[in-house]
Amino acid sequence: VPYTTFKNEALTDFSAEENKTAMHAALARVREGFGRKYPIIIGSEKLFLEEEIISVNPGNVDEVVGTVSKGSTNLAEKAMQTALATFETWKKVAPAERAAYLFKAAELMRERKHEFSSYLVYESGKNWVEADADTAEAIDFLEFYGREMLRLSQTSVHQPLTKVEGDDNQITYIPLGVGIIISPFNFPLAIMAGTTVAAIVSGNTVILKPADATPVIAAKFVGLMEEVGLPAGVLNYLPGDGIEVGEYLVEHPKTRFISFTGSRAVGCRIYERAAKVQKGQIWLKRVIAEMGGKDGVVVDETADLDAAAAAIVASAYGYQGQKCSAGSRAIIVESVYDEVVKKVVELTKNLTIGLPEENYAIGPVIDKKSFEKIMGYIAIGKTEGNLLTGGERSKGNGFYIEPTIFADVNPQARIMQEEIFGPVLAIAKAADWQEAIDIYNNTEYGLTGAYHSKDASRIDYAHENMHCGNLYINKKCTGALVGANPFGGFNMSGTDSKAGGFDYLLLFTQAKLTSRKK
Ligand code: GLU
Repeated sequence: VPYTTFKNEALTDFSAEENKTAMHAALARVREGFGRKYPIIIGSEKLFLEEEIISVNPGNVDEVVGTVSKGSTNLAEKAMQTALATFETWKKVAPAERAAYLFKAAELMRERKHEFSSYLVYESGKNWVEADADTAEAIDFLEFYGREMLRLSQTSVHQPLTKVEGDDNQITYIPLGVGIIISPFNFPLAIMAGTTVAAIVSGNTVILKPADATPVIAAKFVGLMEEVGLPAGVLNYLPGDGIEVGEYLVEHPKTRFISFTGSRAVGCRIYERAAKVQKGQIWLKRVIAEMGGKDGVVVDETADLDAAAAAIVASAYGYQGQKCSAGSRAIIVESVYDEVVKKVVELTKNLTIGLPEENYAIGPVIDKKSFEKIMGYIAIGKTEGNLLTGGERSKGNGFYIEPTIFADVNPQARIMQEEIFGPVLAIAKAADWQEAIDIYNNTEYGLTGAYHSKDASRIDYAHENMHCGNLYINKKCTGALVGANPFGGFNMSGTDSKAGGFDYLLLFTQAKLTSRKK
């Protein structure tokens, strides 16, 4: 496979009858497997324990998607020993051979696309389009990181060293060791798989601790990697409590790196704990952290206002706003403010709410804790802005919340500053386009942003001055494409590790230089 041949996986057109039928069939098949039990996997051992994590359908909380065995510190230690032992052999496997497992897994996932998407629908509450995009992105990560490992191993391409007379200089990117992958519920396939395989293909062994809410889709993925013949012990699957198992591994002296995606609070805690050099530890741990966002869409008076309104709504409410890229703020220039706000409210009111499997635009939020947090912010919003639509729980046997808009919000307000991770949009008015960009930048985060305008010089200004890892012009601020839009943010959004980018694998490797006398 030449590394230059990467192409993004096409999204499914669900308006086509045959695709609709195929998705319905997959949903029905996956439903038949509800309630299955999934073991912890350490090396070649599958461990079924009494203590379990119950994975519930957030769209219908009476349904159990599956139960997974729950890890303890004892098993975390066992997983560490297995990963350490396996590292000794895995690190010697040739890069092309490691990459081949990813390509094979991509092929199988592509064949079973709707099945994977169905698990996402049931377990994470994504509608069809969101689930399909998540699966497509997982396939992209497999194809892309596989190729990236090939490119990285051709170091004359990756880092052409300066020629020195009489010397033969060579640089090799070697793996780090055992990594801990702590993955989020919101892209429970794409980000879980992407962070896992980036580490693995680089020659590391890992312990994967998936999000509590979405362990079944992770188990399915681990099963797929087993099916393609990935050697036992390279990918160890250990669901468990964040504090108990997560922290034990973060603090473990043999942990070489931690790849975390999740909240700012947890990310900061991991960063701090990983920084402490433990007894017997002979390296400084690396932390790759992808945390939150308070992303925003800026609209000036020259913009295509219909397109801008559509971008605001798509950015705010895709997957119920549970993306760190979600556009939870809109900042609109005064002269077009009323018009854009009116359009945004209309589009939002048209969003239908209901069961993910029936493919409504808006589904449930992930769990009770999130639901309560979001409703808490809605209560705060009622004191900080004008509620234009939403603001209430929505009907259904799950965690449904109406898409909510607060207008005329002060840029310093809590709902303009704090990540809500739910379907809540705060809108602020700016005197002019420059003030709008200032308001946009008034955040501790810096993940995604969008600027809507027809004025080329203002767009240049936005390009230079909007401080975020992913800036979109006349587009929505979600949906980064692997390879095309490397994704990761500044400041409290994380370590600016660009997932799906051409420097990502460097985070999982260390460069070794050998200089030979000719
Ligand atoms: N990569 C996703 C996007 O561009 C967001 C990832 C996340 O929410 O963690 O929308």
